[in-house]
Amino acid sequence: QAKRSGKNNYAFYNATQDNDSVERAELEKEMRESIDNNFSGFSVFYQPQTDNAGMVIGAEALLRWTLSDGTQVPPIQFIPLAEYLGLIVPVGEFVLRESAQVCRRVNETHPEFWTSINVSIRQFQQQDFLQRVMMIMEETGVNTANIVFEITEGMAMYDITRMKSLSEEFREHGIRISMDDFGTGYSSLSNMRELPIDIVKIDRTFIRDITTDAYSKSFIRLIIDLVHSMGRKVCVEGVETAEQLKYCQECNADYVQGFHLHVPVSLDEFEKIINLKQD
Ligand code: C2E
Ligand code: MG
Ligand code: MG
Ligand code: MG
Repeated sequence: QAKRSGKNNYAFYNATQDNDSVERAELEKEMRESIDNNFSGFSVFYQPQTDNAGMVIGAEALLRWTLSDGTQVPPIQFIPLAEYLGLIVPVGEFVLRESAQVCRRVNETHPEFWTSINVSIRQFQQQDFLQRVMMIMEETGVNTANIVFEITEGMAMYDITRMKSLSEEFREHGIRISMDDFGTGYSSLSNMRELPIDIVKIDRTFIRDITTDAYSKSFIRLIIDLVHSMGRKVCVEGVETAEQLKYCQECNADYVQGFHLHVPVSLDEFEKIINLKQD
């Protein structure tokens, strides 16, 4: 079935790395039920992002999905499926609404705090995506200056012109754009020049390998300097050790995100973290 529905869809289907079509059909059924049932089973986790002094300054919203039998399905498995089925559009809106609400609440005590939200190519492809987003911004009352959209280089491959114009429109409405998983795509540097990017998130494979791979180590320093010279900010993702954090600080990374600082946590846990940081 996947093979018949066109090249793009086939690529998404492949990305699930799930060869069991029975299991896939089960997951599809559960996903549709979950969505119809007011997104039951879906929840948003938050992973704090800190500045280079260790202060929490933002959080990435990360979707979680638990099946009715209690099984947790990893995002790497259900996100590509949701994209393939087009269900990432309603699910993505759920994430946007939830995390915008949370952000607005946090902003009452931490006005600078932002929420960084992963946006799928399927959402960007919707003709009325901008209008739908702005409706949610108004409904939730969040300040758009506290919202960041994470896009990937893979998305730029589909339609760079649309990516560029839509990203520019979002920026005109105050929403910042972040380039996720930077350095893993085919044309990272040209994308960075083409697209109106506020924050570059260096893919976690680069920081992971700094002790074993001189190239990764230089890449981080070089990209940070380059991005700074373009007047933009850098976030290093996947910081897992004190040594890696130290290197980010040495290189003047603006923001860091990783298990060494904070793992993604439920809203309850997140609110505890945020309130502790208040004083
Ligand atoms: P991503 O956007 O690159 O998100 C970062 C991923 O790295 C998260 O995985 C996070 O838990 C993980 N991570 C954070 N710090 C560390 C670390 O120190 N070490 C390691 N090894 N991993 C770390 P997660 O939550 O499993 O999400 C995987 C991917 O699923 C995300 O990658 C994103 O592409 C996608 N995703 C998650 N939530 C959403 C969503 O709401 N919408 C869309 N479209 N995609 C989402
Ligand atoms: Mg991300
Ligand atoms: Mg990432
Ligand atoms: Mg990713």
